[in-house]
Amino acid sequence: MQKSPITRSEPDEHGHWGEFGGRYVPETLVAPLDELTNEFMRARQDPNFWGECNQLLRDYCGRPTPLFHARRLTAHAGGAQIYLKREDLLHTGAHKINNAVGQALLARRMGKRRVIAETGAGQHGVATATVCALFGLHCVVYMGAEDVRRQALNVFRMRLLGAEVITVNAGTRTLKDAINEALRDWVTNVDDTYYLLGSALGPHPYPLMVRQFQSVIGREAREEILSVTGKLPRALIACVGGGSNAIGLFHPFIADEQVRLIGVEAGGRGDSLGEHAARFHSGTASGGGQVGVLQGTMSYVLQDTNGQIATTHSISAGLDYSAIGPEHAFLHNSGRAEYIRASDAEALEGFRLCARLEGIIPALETSHAIMPAIRVAHELSRDEVIIINLSGRGDKDVQLVAGLQPQ
Ligand SMILES: *Cc1c(COP(=O)(O)O)cnc(C)c1O
Repeated sequence: MQKSPITRSEPDEHGHWGEFGGRYVPETLVAPLDELTNEFMRARQDPNFWGECNQLLRDYCGRPTPLFHARRLTAHAGGAQIYLKREDLLHTGAHKINNAVGQALLARRMGKRRVIAETGAGQHGVATATVCALFGLHCVVYMGAEDVRRQALNVFRMRLLGAEVITVNAGTRTLKDAINEALRDWVTNVDDTYYLLGSALGPHPYPLMVRQFQSVIGREAREEILSVTGKLPRALIACVGGGSNAIGLFHPFIADEQVRLIGVEAGGRGDSLGEHAARFHSGTASGGGQVGVLQGTMSYVLQDTNGQIATTHSISAGLDYSAIGPEHAFLHNSGRAEYIRASDAEALEGFRLCARLEGIIPALETSHAIMPAIRVAHELSRDEVIIINLSGRGDKDVQLVAGLQPQ
């Protein structure tokens, strides 16, 4: 079946991209989500809001980030010129700060004094604690007990930054249990509390709002590549957890049909359910990615044949989640974007290669995009260009990698 390519990707007023997105929440959250939507729509039209946001992105976060010509990776691939969008150079080490700054400004605008967030690996918790320190907001971060144990350094960072970290002992003691607790807190304290969500996920308006705050990545990349090479890239490649760094890079290129948009999911250590986090992998007899609802939005969700949410595995905590953002589900079904997967082993190979050839140690999440990008570049000619979103730096992962294999 041949579909005509789409040239825009905008949700309707209720946050639906086709059948995806929307709001699947308890009644008590409808009013706060409406309030948030209204304020976001007003802020979006307000030059003062963007004036302050852009100034912080520049002076506090370090934007614009460079677009770096990776000559040795390019030579290794033997094809298109590879450029890296250096989100790893941002304050706190990844793209997450772009969204945290935008939403903290919104929280302040709404008069909320208390910010809550949930975090798995701790990266979003650190970004949230950082902006709350900056704005003098009280910050509460929910984290599963298992993650608190695994991510002790990030817990310490959050506490240094003045955040209160609440350990969640329910369920599997991981991210989805932390999300449940955060939602419970929000329902109870909605008058003074802002819920700061970390990826392009969740009920409307979050996927739209997070995309808006992250699309600075793609706007800059577009300008930079045009000014350096005089033409558009043939492909953009980014890892996809919830999907915020990928949609941030892709969005300003949606209408450019000649630009391939390639998202890389975590292929983990195998195809069986529970061994990966590839939501577009329709799976095996035990289950796989199917359309369903998780965390308030309709998207592709990894589930067993009875519709129970599946556990996931990835070497990178930031990609280790059962659902993907709804706009990616739309871009997948419409054929505008392609989604592939890279295994743990391929991610490690990309991690090492990028370190050795470019002197840049990428986050393990980001590392998933490296080997697929080399394959894409190899198929293209030398006068063409591709961009990898270097979503974050790998300092946080060095210890994990050191423990895997003696060097
Ligand atoms: C959290 C994280 C991701 C995954 O989140 P997305 O919302 O899919 O971007 C990717 N890369 C890094 C460095 C991260 O910290």
